[in-house]
Amino acid sequence: MIMSRDPRHDILFEPVQIGPKVARNRFYQVPHCNGMGYRYPRSLAAMRGVKAEGGWAVVCTEEVEIHPSTEVMPANEGRLWADEDISYHALTVEAIQAHGSLAGIELVHQGPTTKNRYSRIPPMGPSARAIAGTNSLQARTMDRADIKALRGWYRDAALRARQAGYDLIYVYAGHDLSILQHFLSRKWNDRTDEYGGSIENRVRLFREVLEETKEAVGHEMAVAVRFAVDELQGPEGITHDGDGRAVVELLSELPDLWDVNISDWPNDSQTARFAPDEGYQDDYIRFVKQVTGKPVVGVGRYTSPDGMAKRVRDGLLDFIGAARPSIADPFLPKKIEEGRLEDIRECIGCNICVSGDNENVPYRCTQNPTVGEEWRREWHPEKIAMKTTNEPVLVVGAGPAGLECAMQLSKRGYPVTLAEASSELGGRVTKEAKLPGLASYIRVRDYRVQYLQVQANVELYLESPLTAEDIADMEVPHVYLATGANWRRDAVGSSLRHPLEGLSNHTVFSPDDIMAGVSVSGRVVVYDDDNYYLGGVIAEKLLDAGCSVTIVTSNPIISQWTELTMEQHRVQKRLIEKGATLTVSKRLVRLEEGCAVTACVFTGQEERIAADVLVPVTERLPEDSLFAGLQDADLKTLKCIGDAFAPASIAAAVYSGHLAARRHEVEGEDLQVFKTERVTV
Ligand code: ADP
Ligand code: SF4
Repeated sequence: MIMSRDPRHDILFEPVQIGPKVARNRFYQVPHCNGMGYRYPRSLAAMRGVKAEGGWAVVCTEEVEIHPSTEVMPANEGRLWADEDISYHALTVEAIQAHGSLAGIELVHQGPTTKNRYSRIPPMGPSARAIAGTNSLQARTMDRADIKALRGWYRDAALRARQAGYDLIYVYAGHDLSILQHFLSRKWNDRTDEYGGSIENRVRLFREVLEETKEAVGHEMAVAVRFAVDELQGPEGITHDGDGRAVVELLSELPDLWDVNISDWPNDSQTARFAPDEGYQDDYIRFVKQVTGKPVVGVGRYTSPDGMAKRVRDGLLDFIGAARPSIADPFLPKKIEEGRLEDIRECIGCNICVSGDNENVPYRCTQNPTVGEEWRREWHPEKIAMKTTNEPVLVVGAGPAGLECAMQLSKRGYPVTLAEASSELGGRVTKEAKLPGLASYIRVRDYRVQYLQVQANVELYLESPLTAEDIADMEVPHVYLATGANWRRDAVGSSLRHPLEGLSNHTVFSPDDIMAGVSVSGRVVVYDDDNYYLGGVIAEKLLDAGCSVTIVTSNPIISQWTELTMEQHRVQKRLIEKGATLTVSKRLVRLEEGCAVTACVFTGQEERIAADVLVPVTERLPEDSLFAGLQDADLKTLKCIGDAFAPASIAAAVYSGHLAARRHEVEGEDLQVFKTERVTV
């Protein structure tokens, strides 16, 4: 069926002039990190190329270091330190331009927010400052010669960027990660020379670099500014009605484009748990188009085409900027263009992508399992090899792993039966999406179910708990078991390797019980040994229900892993504000009459917490009993996937389902079939 675009979205497909270049539409992939950078250049180029293919008119790099005095090892970001770095950029440029998109590069010098662990060059900034999270490392104050040298490095890097073939170059002052922003900020800058004091002085370096970049490459390349108009710190920081506005007024027509957002990165890329609505930055950036005649880009997890078109029509934005929505669905523009709105894989705002970058590995995405795999596994988000036989496949369990596996097998053309024990599709996402702040997680289910429901080669069965016997009787040759995992009730986990003492005399509910709606009251201890989001949201649910909640963790902070999704500080704040008692650096050691006994992880000193109910959020047991029961069945394929194979994140379950479908009826090892980027000497 040929679909056509909704005329209300035509405005999104108008070309827009940016300095000497023309963007073919208004979809703009803003610079974003991805954990690949200079170490995985082929992976990077393929990933960016897929976005251009998907219709993003402008596709940008991550931050690209201009000099060894700004290196963020062990992170994987871009580099243009020297001419030798040009060729890998050329790969990315080629991949983007091959699809008619403009390639943009974001140059950076991080000044006092870089640690230079590798280069061992003392970091520098507008003023001497301690660098957080280091062994007493401090940035030194830059003198005039340093400033002159810095301007030269920016110029040299701009020339290299032009040589690599980029169409657009950024002068970047955002996320509290650029020296140009540090000079602007009173927090970082207490200079008394011509670079400090008044806003005209603090903006001087930014202006100089912008003017010199234009002079060096502006006749051939569009010169964009990325600028944080607000830091959400009130008068302590840059504000959109204070210094932020002043900077846009002072530089107004100088750049060819304004890409504006809020700082720092955790504010810019807030999770859906804390910023549930798309467009959460709109009110901060609204003034920009009133101050400049140049095109304006903004972000805010935009996924709705109506909302995008409205923002353009209302004069808020000229370009729809996106990082995460372009990761979750690189083909979002194409799908809008072709009127295939139901095919859009909407970002759920979980920041698993960010966690990949923060862990210095190629990023991953909950919704889009192909991201990061474009080169090494040759996975395309919209294409998959057709079937090799007509043999039917049974997928048992309709959580994220089962849904993704069934969807991709169906796309390959196989006859697929998907059987789900419960009365609802979605498995864990259906349950978790009902917890506070996780409503958007349901998109993982909905995107896949809307596809599966209308496929002629798919049969969906609810309320069908299958036994090994049932499956053997079905005489289907290929079976994937996506039956999930169950939270343990005995508190065994990473800090307690044996069942907790005293369980039998106590009321204990697992997270599964809480999600199933069991009634809980009184004093509850949530023992969070999982340390991702679930312990925190379960605690929130219980607080909302009027329980008195103590969260115990052996870590020094609550939900520690959410530091990697940039939301830990918000998790802890919310729990404190909702009235939770936070007990950190304590292990749970046993239950006694009316209380939970904890021990300090350092001293072992015990403490008693009055408790009517314990909720251990510790570890899950794979539901793999069917696998054992089918060992003697006459099957060509029998595999556990997702949490039934190895409990992990939703992203991992989707990935597992996808991998199984791609590898179905393919000979050989599943897990290690990917190309490796090697250093060649
Ligand atoms: P994953 O994250 O790996 O997709 P989930 O726990 O989200 O796992 O989903 C597993 C799904 O499998 C649940 O919806 C569960 O009801 C279903 N399920 C478990 N056992 C059976 C079974 N024997 N027959 C059919 N469905 C099952
Ligand atoms: Fe969105 Fe989560 Fe994918 Fe990131 S990982 S793009 S936040 S769905």
